[in-house]
Amino acid sequence: MSNIKPEDFFKNIISHSKEYGFIFQSSEIYDGLSAVYDYGQMGVELKKNIRDYWWKSMVQMHENIVGIDTAIFMHPTTWKASGHIDAFNDPLIDNKDSKKRYRADVLIEEHVSKIEDKINKEIEKAAGRFENFDRTLFRSTNGRVKEYQEKIDIINARFKTALNNNDLEEIKKIIIDLEIVCPISGSRNWTDVRQFNLMFSTSIGSVSEEANTIYLRPETAQGIFVNYLNVQKTGRMKIPFGIAQTGKAFRNEIVARQFIFRMREFEQMEMQFFIKPGTEMEWYEHWKKIRLSWHLSLGLGKEKYRFHDHLKLAHYANAACDIEFEFPFGYKELEGIHSRTDFDLKQHEQFSGKKLQYFDPELNQSYVPFVIETSVGLDRLFLSILSSAFKIEKLEGDETRTVMSLPAALAPYKAAIFPLLKKDGLPELSESIMNSLKFDFNLAYDEKDTIGKRYRRHDAIGTPFCITVDHQSIEDKTVTIRDRDTMKQSRIKIDELKSFLDQHVGIQNLLKNL
Ligand code: ATP
Repeated sequence: MSNIKPEDFFKNIISHSKEYGFIFQSSEIYDGLSAVYDYGQMGVELKKNIRDYWWKSMVQMHENIVGIDTAIFMHPTTWKASGHIDAFNDPLIDNKDSKKRYRADVLIEEHVSKIEDKINKEIEKAAGRFENFDRTLFRSTNGRVKEYQEKIDIINARFKTALNNNDLEEIKKIIIDLEIVCPISGSRNWTDVRQFNLMFSTSIGSVSEEANTIYLRPETAQGIFVNYLNVQKTGRMKIPFGIAQTGKAFRNEIVARQFIFRMREFEQMEMQFFIKPGTEMEWYEHWKKIRLSWHLSLGLGKEKYRFHDHLKLAHYANAACDIEFEFPFGYKELEGIHSRTDFDLKQHEQFSGKKLQYFDPELNQSYVPFVIETSVGLDRLFLSILSSAFKIEKLEGDETRTVMSLPAALAPYKAAIFPLLKKDGLPELSESIMNSLKFDFNLAYDEKDTIGKRYRRHDAIGTPFCITVDHQSIEDKTVTIRDRDTMKQSRIKIDELKSFLDQHVGIQNLLKNL
């Protein structure tokens, strides 16, 4: 890895994403639209592969989980029942000098996370000095670490009470007491904290008819809840069972920074798991484990993930945590796992007047099921994979190469086929190889520039294998195959390419890690 400064690393990822067709700013020719992004020709493939992997592992690999695809627009009462009209708010605060707007809760959380960083630094410093170092013991006995931890506990306790009491004045007071400054102006000149509803609204129906306010869904989950009975009955589903869905969600985010981490239009992949009341803690722990091992199966590194329990539970939850990922700008939420109780189904029963119960043949009784939700943002997942894969490697001399070590099964192209020269029958043989493999794999064909340049181009978009057709190929029906990560080349029979690729780039490589 070359010596690239951390603050430049993220900028490099953003410009690389644009240069190689992964992500473009939306409506760029009009100077863009804040926090809205488009996926380019490479990005759409990577995103689709991530979505497919999630779908396969949740739906195909679980006999008791089925998928659906519900509309973005829903009856407006849905959002009254779900609590989003009344409670889907974020506390916002403005800095009077910079005129910048912040999420008050995020300012406090970031302050806490800075203290946590200090603790980790102390631990790592000590770990470097002693053999057989016991981190847990050090954490609980070292004076300075204990001091930091006490500070965190005091802030968290105050913050939790303020959130639970919806005490906006106290939230502002915490910001003032912690001497949190605006990163732009450096001042502590804050406005009061206000609540801000995150839902986008529009109207349905023509002007002459009665127009109704309608919302762009802020989560895909409600589409699952209102269809719970349809799916349970038509699919003859027995509890415990799950319903999965992927699709767009919309939130008018107050602070929209950090590229595709926080967007106003994004995609969620959610699964609601319907269970018997009273079994929710067991299933909550179960899904925490399953989802963490799903993330670990991507091979981005165990140390990049951690659980974070919610301080303030949402109005529908009795337990909730996030799986956080170490993005280039620190540990942030990647996926939420929530024990949603029977809140949503009961609310929909009450607002619709329809029963949403399950008859349990084993208990010989009906009940409203409890729900465990797993909810991951596809765009955040994309960013986690992209930022871990992106590397600038030092080669011999002053040479470097940019390589995206994407998990092979998720890469946009699985292989690229190059004729060494544009003559002597090499392009024709390359094309025939391409034609025999393209039913099974997404492949690139490239005959422009030197082989070295073609390798670099495909390293930069993460193509796991490059196949070169040369004169020997015509004689003995072999080609060279070059591995993106090791850059090693070997010869392989053309007839064996399909099984080689199946073995190395198939999605089963990820699924079998689960
Ligand atoms: P945050 O605290 O970061 O605002 P959240 O807790 O509101 O997120 P959830 O409502 O739990 O998020 O949504 C589930 C998942 O959807 C999140 O873990 C995240 O991956 C994704 N997500 C939520 N909001 C956004 C957004 N604005 N842009 C991209 N992904 C998002």
